[in-house]
Amino acid sequence: MEGLMKGKRGLVMGVANDHSIAWGIAKTLAAHGAEMAFTYQGEAFGKRIKPLAESIGSSILLPCDVEDIASVDNVFDVLKEKWGKIDFLVHAIAYADKTELRGRYADTSRENFNKALLISCFSFTEIVKRAAAIMPDGGSVVTLTYGGSTRVMPNYNVMGVAKAALESSVRYLAMDYGEQGIRINAISAGPVRTLAGSVISDSRLMYNFQKRHSPLARTVTLDEIGGSGLYLLSELSGGVTGEIHFVDSGYNIVSMPRLDELKR
Ligand code: NAD
Repeated sequence: MEGLMKGKRGLVMGVANDHSIAWGIAKTLAAHGAEMAFTYQGEAFGKRIKPLAESIGSSILLPCDVEDIASVDNVFDVLKEKWGKIDFLVHAIAYADKTELRGRYADTSRENFNKALLISCFSFTEIVKRAAAIMPDGGSVVTLTYGGSTRVMPNYNVMGVAKAALESSVRYLAMDYGEQGIRINAISAGPVRTLAGSVISDSRLMYNFQKRHSPLARTVTLDEIGGSGLYLLSELSGGVTGEIHFVDSGYNIVSMPRLDELKR
């Protein structure tokens, strides 16, 4: 099963360090022969990502802050110039002010709502549009979401609303680009200890709760998310688009926590 991505080139956005979900996906894709370009947000992340990118033979590393649309345009201009086209895209970008990733959703400020939705949701639409323009032979796109989109999770607040909008975008974009042979899907990952994950208040408690109460009674690994990324970005999933694919140890099917805990 090796070499599923041989001859395929793509862009990975959202690696902050070697704990990032995007890095888990990139490592798996590299092991299957993919060639990748990476973006980074700011010089500090750039320094951390450089050795990671080099370790899998990638030399295209570009700055990009999705709030600055000129930096997004530049990424796709460079890719068009260097490669002419791409085959896949990974969007693993999200942001909300950490002071509002606690307490009540009702207290979300207008400023934070706009910023969180722009970075965590609308950036996906803007990026897919630009990626599709350099996917003449079709392609596959994956973004990252979380179960807090459809069910209430403590402290997830505006990020849950942004993920709901992101998941809806996946379906609309799948329709928009389907006839061009471009597939658009999302991975809904269980909690992972990353920079973005750790800013959610009490994230450790949520992590441990899902670990205890998911059917598999554990959390998921970056390699497991990488495996699903490989499936969705390769021809293995050729007939799949507009899907929200859960990689969460089955937590999304659970209604009640395990009863033995309540009986104690
Ligand atoms: P991470 O901190 O490693 O990655 C988040 C990335 O978003 C970083 O690389 C950061 O630079 C980037 N980013 C934020 N604002 C940006 C901006 N304005 N412009 C460009 N990039 C920006 O954390 P992660 O957990 O790997 O997050 C990746 C994705 O996975 C996010 O969409 C997140 O919501 C999602 N996700 C995370 C978990 C989890 O438990 N960690 C679970 C499900 C989904």
